Amino acid sequence: MATIKHLIHGEPVADDARTTDVFNPSTGQAIHTLGLASRATIRKAIDSAQAAFPAWRNTPAAKRAQVMFRFKQLLEANEQRIAQLISEEHGKTLEDAVGELKRGIENVEFASAAPEILKGEYSRNVGPNIDAWSDLQPIGVVAGITPFNFPAMVPLWMYPLAIACGNCFILKPSERDPSSTLLIAELLHEAGLPKGVLNVVHGDKEAVDALIEAPEVKALSFVGSTPIAEYIYAEGTKRGKRVQALGGAKNHAVLMPDAELDNAVSALMGAAYGSCGERCMAISVAVCVGDPVADALIDKLVPQIKALKIGAGTSCGLDMGPLVTAAARDKVLGYIDDGVAAGAKVVVDGRGFKVAGNEEGFFVGGTLFDRVTPEMRIYKEEIFGPVLCVVRVNSLEAAIQLINDHEYGNGTCIFTRDGESARLFCDEIEVGMVGVNVPLPVPVSYHSFGGWKRSLFGDLHAYGPDGVRFYTRKKAITQRWPKRTSHEAAQFAFPSNS
Ligand code: NAD
Repeated sequence: MATIKHLIHGEPVADDARTTDVFNPSTGQAIHTLGLASRATIRKAIDSAQAAFPAWRNTPAAKRAQVMFRFKQLLEANEQRIAQLISEEHGKTLEDAVGELKRGIENVEFASAAPEILKGEYSRNVGPNIDAWSDLQPIGVVAGITPFNFPAMVPLWMYPLAIACGNCFILKPSERDPSSTLLIAELLHEAGLPKGVLNVVHGDKEAVDALIEAPEVKALSFVGSTPIAEYIYAEGTKRGKRVQALGGAKNHAVLMPDAELDNAVSALMGAAYGSCGERCMAISVAVCVGDPVADALIDKLVPQIKALKIGAGTSCGLDMGPLVTAAARDKVLGYIDDGVAAGAKVVVDGRGFKVAGNEEGFFVGGTLFDRVTPEMRIYKEEIFGPVLCVVRVNSLEAAIQLINDHEYGNGTCIFTRDGESARLFCDEIEVGMVGVNVPLPVPVSYHSFGGWKRSLFGDLHAYGPDGVRFYTRKKAITQRWPKRTSHEAAQFAFPSNS
């Protein structure tokens, strides 16, 4: 098995004193060994980024943007190769892998507008012969720590924009599916990125702690589970760093009695079972307003869940692949056991599901629970698997209350034909991203992504305009060039225009 290396100063670097296996979840076989970075390797990456920063911050934004243009072209030219690597190590279907890459490329497109984004603001004659402007300057060396579920897209939320803003970046991708992430970083170098501007280090807590503790790392972007997000936010901010830490989720879809049920069912199928439920924006709870809606929904969902095409992620034409690891599969199975024991009605049971020819793969079949109540663990906790829970309520107000009482607030949506209900929902719901007849309201790259409550720690959302604010520091400059011949007397009163 090949050992995957780190990418430091544009070169592959071996550090494999400690290693972990990377699996193909469709076959259940280990396919690579991954070296886990020691503190010494993290130090090399930081030194490389520090050394690259002065020249990169002074490179014209238009030139930085040109690197992003070439990067986008290379990503498009290598789409199938990247999607294959994602599917092989993550298990998601090839089509889904292409989808995440395309959404990632949108962030490269946004970063390509760096000269426009970084223009700042200018005011002439704010006082006598005084001009003022604000400048958006890079913050230095920044680091990103990313999850397994979007090995292409989530890193692309971070470093293209950070780099286009003039920063140098150290990426610590997930140790479970690092190959596509690494290939994409190599393509950025092929696009002309100077050495040291982006370094990729693989690793676990040791690597992350070394990044948190290094004074040279000025900001940390994290995406992953809530306990780690809380840890990184607390440790990073304690050291005076900027931190943006996106955490877990439990996303509800509200079905109103006037919803177009067939469309809502199609939307729910994709949002609950796509990527085997391993999306932070996956819908895992259907909140039905009234028993007739719940009964009709379940009648329509059951045959479709039973007909899900499940198999090796790298095959074409599938709906769903396996979970990422044996541990992830066992965790999901544990939740299903727990739901049954707690008294929820398992309408479709994905336990014991096998794919012929891939019996060792980490598969779980699509699962549907009815009569789920808020005190059950399957309702409260993020399952991150192909499990949809139906909760029955009597009114829209009760649905809103239920969602607002949940500790997570990443995404939510409502299915209705009624504008008044939709408007009330958008106004009152305490969730960061809201869809109206849109099941996965993931903002496009020129808006920003972020949840509320325990789904995000920090003030700013990820990518888009908030990403620019996160990866830059504002400087306000006030300038006067007095005439050589004029003499100005000292002023002791605070200067103003009135
Ligand atoms: P994870 O928290 O296990 O890992 C995320 C990153 O943190 C990885 O790079 C991992 O190596 C690192 N890490 C793990 N343990 C650590 C520790 N003890 N100390 C420091 N770093 C550590 O998350 P995951 O399983 O890779 O991803 C799934 C989770 O990510 C889900 O909870 C999902 O909701 C969340 N997620 C959230 C968003 C969002 O935008 N809010 C997007 C994608 C995924």
